[in-house]
Amino acid sequence: MLETLHRIVKEVNAAPDLGEALELIVARVKKAVGADVCSVYLTDFERREHVLRATEGLQSAAVGKVRLPLHRGLIGLVCERAEPVNVADAPDHRHYLFAHETGETRYHGFLGVPIIQNRRVLGVLVVRQIKQRTFDDSEVTFLFTLAAQLAGAITHAQASGELIAMEGVAPPTRFLQGRAGAPGVALGTAVVVYPPADLDAVPDRKGEDPEQEEDFRTAVAAVVEDLMALEDRVEDSLPAEDRALFDAWLMMLGSDSLIGKTVERIMAGDWAAGALRQTIEEHARVFDGMDDIYLRERASDVRDLGRRILMHLQQERSGPVDYPEETILVGDEVSAMQLADVPMERLAGLVSAKGASFSHVAILARAMGVPAVMGVSDLPVGRVDGRFLISDGYRGRIYVSPAPSVRTEYLRQAEEDRALSTELEATRDLPSETSDGVSVRLYLNTGLVSEMSTLGSDEAAGVGLYRTEVPFMVRDRFPSEEAQTANYRNVLETFAPRPVTIRTLDIGGDKPLPYFPVNESNPFLGWRGIRISLDHPEIFLTQVRAMLRAAIGLDNLQLLLPMISNVSEVDDSLLLIQRAHDELIEEGHGVKMPRVGVMIEVPAAVYQVEALARRVDFLSVGTNDLTQYLLAVDRNNPHVAEIYDDLHPAVLRALIQVVEGGRQFHREVSVCGEMAGNPAAAVLLLGMGVENLSMSASSLLRVKWVIHSISRARARELLQAALRCEKAAEVRALLSKALEEIGLGGLVRAGK
Ligand code: PEP
Ligand code: MG
Repeated sequence: MLETLHRIVKEVNAAPDLGEALELIVARVKKAVGADVCSVYLTDFERREHVLRATEGLQSAAVGKVRLPLHRGLIGLVCERAEPVNVADAPDHRHYLFAHETGETRYHGFLGVPIIQNRRVLGVLVVRQIKQRTFDDSEVTFLFTLAAQLAGAITHAQASGELIAMEGVAPPTRFLQGRAGAPGVALGTAVVVYPPADLDAVPDRKGEDPEQEEDFRTAVAAVVEDLMALEDRVEDSLPAEDRALFDAWLMMLGSDSLIGKTVERIMAGDWAAGALRQTIEEHARVFDGMDDIYLRERASDVRDLGRRILMHLQQERSGPVDYPEETILVGDEVSAMQLADVPMERLAGLVSAKGASFSHVAILARAMGVPAVMGVSDLPVGRVDGRFLISDGYRGRIYVSPAPSVRTEYLRQAEEDRALSTELEATRDLPSETSDGVSVRLYLNTGLVSEMSTLGSDEAAGVGLYRTEVPFMVRDRFPSEEAQTANYRNVLETFAPRPVTIRTLDIGGDKPLPYFPVNESNPFLGWRGIRISLDHPEIFLTQVRAMLRAAIGLDNLQLLLPMISNVSEVDDSLLLIQRAHDELIEEGHGVKMPRVGVMIEVPAAVYQVEALARRVDFLSVGTNDLTQYLLAVDRNNPHVAEIYDDLHPAVLRALIQVVEGGRQFHREVSVCGEMAGNPAAAVLLLGMGVENLSMSASSLLRVKWVIHSISRARARELLQAALRCEKAAEVRALLSKALEEIGLGGLVRAGK
């Protein structure tokens, strides 16, 4: 049963649109359960009805016609209860509702299971039997399990299908919901980026140059050559019957169904990679559907051949991407590198199907001032390339080929945003001080891309967080001490004499190094940050030496330790820092011991804040991770993004405890997580007594404006009110209202 289940889900996932997906479901389920009928009803909440969308067994003319009231009949009962209904004799049930279009009087046995996603019923999957019959437990659980997995595929296929249906007809006002990633709205052309040699990720695209067919044939010839060379190499070690596989592959590569079909698609206007993807998928699906297990396995051979051809195709076409003027970069999981690849002047927005607001790529987008929408899991990434998109980074929505009215509204919002930015410019020369004279130092977070390091450098009080991972990520080996020194010197010099806080390497989690693979099932709870540094003192010492050398004569270095979860990690790090210092002195370098701080980003560090404060010079709260670990919510996972919230009362209380701990030992406390750059949250931090906030360049003037417009006394009042709230949403509403009252609502929502 498990195998059947996997096969059905896989096939449905590969279906190009909702219609095909549903037809597949009903055909496969009917067969698997041995039922007389299988149907899918989709729920339309606006019209308050369930619509028959596919059936195997009932009259097909009824599809789209049979509409059952939302809360009536057995289907209505499944939806209302959101659980399976299993009835031996349906017509005899008090909820039974007769639908004459389907000719269903003949059926007695009924089993309906809800299809649910994100707590919402999408529809009902039903099997029927002519005779009276209660479906047994294994059948109920089979359908139940299948329905739970189908929900995602159905919404995905629905979104894909809608996109196709939109072609040439009146465009919709419907949007796809994701998570707000970086504020702002963007209107532009989608450019889909995808990982190399990933056939499934190849987007649909028009083949614009006439060499597509030739490229494709060259790539196939190259794969034939590769395979023949491989066959020669294994000739002696493989038995003849296994070597026959090579002949089968070579035959496929010469077959009309593979080559001819792809060329046909290219001639019809597709680009070679897209044509190849469709043909391979079509071919593989035929094998997937076979009963013979040996033949079914051949599907993976077909896919493998497809990948090999794709690899050669990509090698032939690996020139720079042509980004249109208002590029909205779209991908299944856009990486920081792909984002940094687009010329700044062409980059209008970012949309990622995976990831959430606190993923590093979203943080980078915020730093660059690029509106971003994350976690749009229903986005049919492969189908939007070249389309006009609107991405709303405030509400986390995207519109694909939207209606003119939506476009006009968003153009207006973009205009208001621009006006707001001009007003923000006026705050550039103002001191960062509350209306009752409390000075708040605003620092920059930098390092996610090197070009950003000087942005906002004039108005910042220094650098509160320099993330050192990127220079490590863009290489094929660990950077040398010299290379690191030059890098750190650059940022220390740019800001001198203002302090620059450089954080030691915080790899692991969602920042892997290509040349230092860490394969863990739970990377955020694994080998990360200081844990790697202490296990590899040679990496840590090289980095610290580079930092100390870079600061010679400038003396504005502060060193920050990430992911501290116990005091021994601090003690051990301090010893190593001292050792690096002493070695350099011995070698004749005039280095000085820097101020050292720890990041408070693990709950354990909150509860031991005094013990930590005693050991170091300052504390810096990483609210991104602190929220993730306090709430047990993966900061990258869109499925749980709804409950990731740095205004959660528990986070606020943890912050208060940290501020108190720092105060006891007269240690400076700063906040360098994204919370510090949120104008509303900054008010609460001010109320707590935090006077050092570190944020991305694009947030600096926004936060300065709010600080300038509010008094510390008012911030304290708001904090007290916030502490009476039991939900993050209440805290947010409270702060939004307070900002609206002082005319700054535009800082936290679209429009002025
Ligand atoms: C944080 O966790 O809040 C932080 C600033 O570090 P990063 O986002 O790089 O993990
Ligand atoms: Mg962190």
